[in-house]
Amino acid sequence: QSELILQNLKEAVRQNGLQESVQVIRTGCFGFCEKGPVVKLIPDNTFYVQVTPEDADDIVNEHLIKGRKVERLLYVNPETNELILDSKHINFYKKQLRIALRNCGFINPENIDEYIARDGYIALGKALTEMTPEEVIKEIMDSGLRGRGGGGFPTGLKWQITRKVQAPQKYVVCNADEGDPGAFMDRSILEGDPHSIVEAMAINGYCTGASKGLVYIRAEYPLAVERLKIAIDQAKDYGFLGDNIFGTDFSFDIQIRYGAGAFVCGEETALIHSMEGLRGEATVKPPFPSESGYKGCPTNVNNVETYANIPVILLKGAKWFSSIGTEKSKGTKVFALAGKVNNVGLIEVPMGTTLREVIFGIGGGIKDGKKFKAVQTGGPSGGCLTEKHLDLPIDYDNLIAAGSMMGSGGMIVMDEDDCMVAMAKFYLDFTVEESCGKCAPCRIGNKRLHEMLQKITSGRGNIEDLDKLRNLAMVIKDTALCGLGQTSPNPVLSTMDNFYDEYLAHVDEQR
Ligand code: SF4
Repeated sequence: QSELILQNLKEAVRQNGLQESVQVIRTGCFGFCEKGPVVKLIPDNTFYVQVTPEDADDIVNEHLIKGRKVERLLYVNPETNELILDSKHINFYKKQLRIALRNCGFINPENIDEYIARDGYIALGKALTEMTPEEVIKEIMDSGLRGRGGGGFPTGLKWQITRKVQAPQKYVVCNADEGDPGAFMDRSILEGDPHSIVEAMAINGYCTGASKGLVYIRAEYPLAVERLKIAIDQAKDYGFLGDNIFGTDFSFDIQIRYGAGAFVCGEETALIHSMEGLRGEATVKPPFPSESGYKGCPTNVNNVETYANIPVILLKGAKWFSSIGTEKSKGTKVFALAGKVNNVGLIEVPMGTTLREVIFGIGGGIKDGKKFKAVQTGGPSGGCLTEKHLDLPIDYDNLIAAGSMMGSGGMIVMDEDDCMVAMAKFYLDFTVEESCGKCAPCRIGNKRLHEMLQKITSGRGNIEDLDKLRNLAMVIKDTALCGLGQTSPNPVLSTMDNFYDEYLAHVDEQR
């Protein structure tokens, strides 16, 4: 659909002889999935939503030639019925702060000049010519940036650990595996702003002493792969990758490695195994990848969203970045807002924004006027939070204390019609399927947990099964080898904590 809109717009511009004055460009994602496809006209910032290929003629003839807005394509405020011209006045965007997504929807990601025009590669130049690696690392540490892939480990500290290890060869890796169903944060950044990742990886290489970068990306993301390849080639042509970058003795190159979509390969040791051509299985840490990673060399792994923040931090300073967010979680977080919410899409909010603001302010509330029941944060192994958590400021620590987690940013909203026991079983289906099978608690325990849930939901369970369910979930949480297994019981435990009456109803019905 979008491709056809693009072609029709180009054709209408050509037919009307406007090629000299009007450029039609394809950008990355605007984030407002609910109202896509979106066409934005610059410089007046008119924001047209739910555009079809047939609308292209009207956009060109009415808007560009006659100067009249195409009203039927404008966003209508659902509360006031008022037509909104500029996206900055739409609630979905008004409450967001876009740092990692700053260029998505603004630039042509296949044109390095557009990235440069928005301060691209200045941070790399600044790091290489004005700062020592230690100074850059200190800036990242002072910013308070924590890993956006889910772990929340301080990014600067990770870089410092890798820097301190002496080795002839080191690697920096970008984790673009993004295995959470329904999550597309990393994909959108790579599709909309690939140069920010290239630039940040080079900065990381300078800081850690690595001359080689590897991007581990899902092969199911063909557009992201294509744009990343274009960005790498353009960066080489412009001298931002290769030898003697910015006239210094720093050399850095990036290669792409493809993942086959296994969820466990988002875990850094499994990811490294997969890149080495081995089975994607997690290993015990230590040693950590920063000491012994890819091919036994010190390897610094960060995820896409973490990298996307790096150039801005160097340009605007640690003080600016750390002024955003909460005491222990600085900056913003990108979420893929999905489920029974009116405005499904990709959003970025300051840490500390409440779930209520996200779901009702940005998300526009629950679909079809139904009642909010729960929100699952943190992907398939996150926890389900309820109405009592709506005013909880979102940050790493608050979500864990509430029985969930940040994860990489999946956020699925449920309404009054959703059965929470069925929901827990649904998520467990996924983790059972995705377990790498290396350790018994996850390989066998989750299967048994799943069987118990099947028994309960199919009307054969009793009250004792509920105790067994909780006990086994706790054992798996405490004994599984990697993050996948340790967090996989979260949906069961959090729904038992918050919706025990629904479990009781399932076993009561059987009596
Ligand atoms: Fe593999 Fe699961 Fe064990 Fe992780 S917890 S190592 S995914 S079996």
